[in-house]
Amino acid sequence: MYDLIIIGSGVAGMTASIYASRYKLEHLIFGETPGGQGTLAGRVENYPGYVSIPGPELMQKFGEQVKSYGMEIKQEKVGGLATQKHREVHGDTEFFEVKTDKGTYQAKTLILAMGASFRQLNIPGEEKFLGRGVSYCTTCDAPLFKDKVVAIVGGGDSAVTGAIHAASFAKKVYIIHRRDEYRAEPAWVEKLRQNEKIEEILSSQITQISGQDKVESITLDKPYQGSNILKVDGVFIEVGQMPSSVLASQLGVQIDERRYVKVNPGMQTNVPGIFAAGDLAAVQGGILFRQFITAASDGARAAASVYQYLHKGEVPAPSWGKT
Ligand code: NAP
Repeated sequence: MYDLIIIGSGVAGMTASIYASRYKLEHLIFGETPGGQGTLAGRVENYPGYVSIPGPELMQKFGEQVKSYGMEIKQEKVGGLATQKHREVHGDTEFFEVKTDKGTYQAKTLILAMGASFRQLNIPGEEKFLGRGVSYCTTCDAPLFKDKVVAIVGGGDSAVTGAIHAASFAKKVYIIHRRDEYRAEPAWVEKLRQNEKIEEILSSQITQISGQDKVESITLDKPYQGSNILKVDGVFIEVGQMPSSVLASQLGVQIDERRYVKVNPGMQTNVPGIFAAGDLAAVQGGILFRQFITAASDGARAAASVYQYLHKGEVPAPSWGKT
């Protein structure tokens, strides 16, 4: 029986593990891809302590720090979560069971830090050309489009930083955003506009991706320079994320209307002993802010809350009424 099992090994999960180690909590950390979405970030320029550092390098440093406390990230796929009762002299206590492809593990508390997956556009051609010109990760696949023409869809930090990254390989980059104003940090938008290879197509959406064996063109919902058809070799879809909250709901954890796990400022869910952190969690009443620094903060607070929960007895779980 462990004190804690952390599910997810991105920024939030790894930070939770570092703090749990310092709190001397007997714990496990699971994650199929150590570093999670952090490894997909191009350059990170807003994580204090580093003026500019590639995402994979920063995640490697997180991993080294986790290991420095003797922890090993278990690269096992978590397939199921359950609550069990444990009969003790002073009455029943509950614990949690985590089933992976390699075994079953038990813990008194859980930190859910499974992050999020890429949101899709759900337009014709998107699925057909996945891996043949369509990608959800500019950081990973931009080098495949050296001297080609690519389109990036979206207006957040991922799309804007993705367009800047793609421009260091492609000969031309279109950024296509459905509104006339970006959601991304103004500092990134300024860099985007200084790049002569990048052309902005605002207040427009793509409705179809076409080609024979691979992407050859996209269709826009309104004409750009006289045509709705734009010839491109690649399309990067960077339109945000969907929280990976399916497993959480197996435990009766409340999920909000955007599919985020509801937490209070202590990262506590409605189920006593279950905490959530990072891109999966939304502090109710707070702003949704998705950064390396906020995921790290979530992970640290979740581990501190677990320590309090285990050492001070039951901390009342929050209630948000019915979901
Ligand atoms: P995001 O901030 O949620 O932005 C998603 C963008 O996609 C929005 O501009 C949205 O348009 C657009 N969009 C959503 N659904 C669409 C659809 N069906 N069709 C067309 N456009 C659609 O997502 P993100 O850019 O992936 O960023 C996620 C989080 O990670 C954010 O908190 C971001 O700050 C953070 N991040 C930070 C950095 C950094 O360097 N600081 C880098 C990457 C990501 P609307 O604007 O109209 O809603």
